[in-house]
Amino acid sequence: MALIVHKYGGTSMGSPERIRNVAKRVAKWARAGHQMVVVPSAMSGETNRLLGLAKELAPSKSSAAYNRELDMLAATGEQASSALLAIALQAEGMESVSYAGWQVPIKTNSAFTKARIESIDDDRVRADLAAGKVVVITGFQGVDEEANITTLGRGGSDTSAVAVAAAMKAAECLIYTDVDGVYTTDPRVVAEARRLQTVSFEEMLEMASLGSKVLQIRSVEFAGKYKVPLRVLSSFTPWDIDINEEAKSGTLITFEEDEKMEQAVVSGIAFNRDEAKVSVLGVPDKPGIAYHILGAVADANIEVDVIIQNLSKDGKTDFSFTVHRGEYARTVELLNTKVLPSLGAAEVVGDTKICKVSIVGIGMRSHVGVASKMFRSLSEEGINIQMISTSEIKTSVVIDEKYMELAVRALHKAFDLDQPVS
Ligand code: ADP
Ligand code: ASP
Ligand code: MG
Repeated sequence: MALIVHKYGGTSMGSPERIRNVAKRVAKWARAGHQMVVVPSAMSGETNRLLGLAKELAPSKSSAAYNRELDMLAATGEQASSALLAIALQAEGMESVSYAGWQVPIKTNSAFTKARIESIDDDRVRADLAAGKVVVITGFQGVDEEANITTLGRGGSDTSAVAVAAAMKAAECLIYTDVDGVYTTDPRVVAEARRLQTVSFEEMLEMASLGSKVLQIRSVEFAGKYKVPLRVLSSFTPWDIDINEEAKSGTLITFEEDEKMEQAVVSGIAFNRDEAKVSVLGVPDKPGIAYHILGAVADANIEVDVIIQNLSKDGKTDFSFTVHRGEYARTVELLNTKVLPSLGAAEVVGDTKICKVSIVGIGMRSHVGVASKMFRSLSEEGINIQMISTSEIKTSVVIDEKYMELAVRALHKAFDLDQPVS
């Protein structure tokens, strides 16, 4: 008898009919002799609906007091879906109980809207499992030291599930979603995308951090840190398919590199439209400039991603970087009011209509010419590259947002990702 954690995303929990289906599937696993902990997301659209209501009342506030209330609000979505799932499980003849994050408790820090899990006390859950109950735990939320409800950032139910699996030393964490695994790229953008049978932990980490929202990045970090066996699979298969077949379906996140040695150089393509580019023009080219600009940005708690500095001409240079789109206005204002006056730079310009497209693969470590193949393929499509950033296992480019789909399709083809791996 193994302890298994299932996570079901918003679409999978999207209607009473789908919740019933989830309950039947979970009951099948429990009847096969497993101890089951289930972590659902809010019903699809619910988190957006709730946050939309808050925006109507206070459009652009971003204080700790406001964020606290956002968490109080958004966490209700998962509380509702969890109770509904426990009710559906009871209707299937299972004993079941649901808990909100604070009841477990799942303890987090106090970074409202992006809290990090610090510890999970599993005594209560273990007692329920021992009594034969299926335990449902709300995804996406926890509680801080002062008993405030916190949430873990969008897509955070993945992280709740993996963290619970890690804390309870579950045999496996199964992430059920609306696609049947991790693909070479988002199958909703490239129809030829292929499902990967396995993907290495490192590649999954890069893909998640570069924009593939199939798994929230922190869930992958947890899986890596605690070596949680993790699988992504479909919640849309008939609930009564053979359990052994189901257990082997989807995509397994692997921790052994050797298995991948013979596989493709590039495993996947990620993209993200969440960033904006900021350029400071005519900066005096002298030591301490990057610190002067980026230090001010960091002090304002704004995360910076891709950075470039141009060659200097006549003692002046241009300095560009990307930030989250939601932070764009704040960054430009900060630079104009706090940085430019003391820097003697000419002006700040920016572009919010950019995107970042990345190729990812651990095979890139041992192959040369991968990045240049990427650049050639983009140039053949007439796509101008604005910024480049590389690491051992990825190359990212910043391009005009309007070319995003074209770029992803072209790269998918150029790296033969539509072809089965031999
Ligand atoms: P859930 O509600 O189950 O958490 P999400 O919408 O958060 O589901 O994540 C699943 C979605 O991720 C898919 O519907 C798909 O459009 C998107 N996605 C992006 N990149 C990939 C990828 N490489 N493989 C599979 N799905 C991807
Ligand atoms: N309901 C939350 C969201 O929409 C968390 C999740 O679905 O994982 O972001
Ligand atoms: Mg998700």
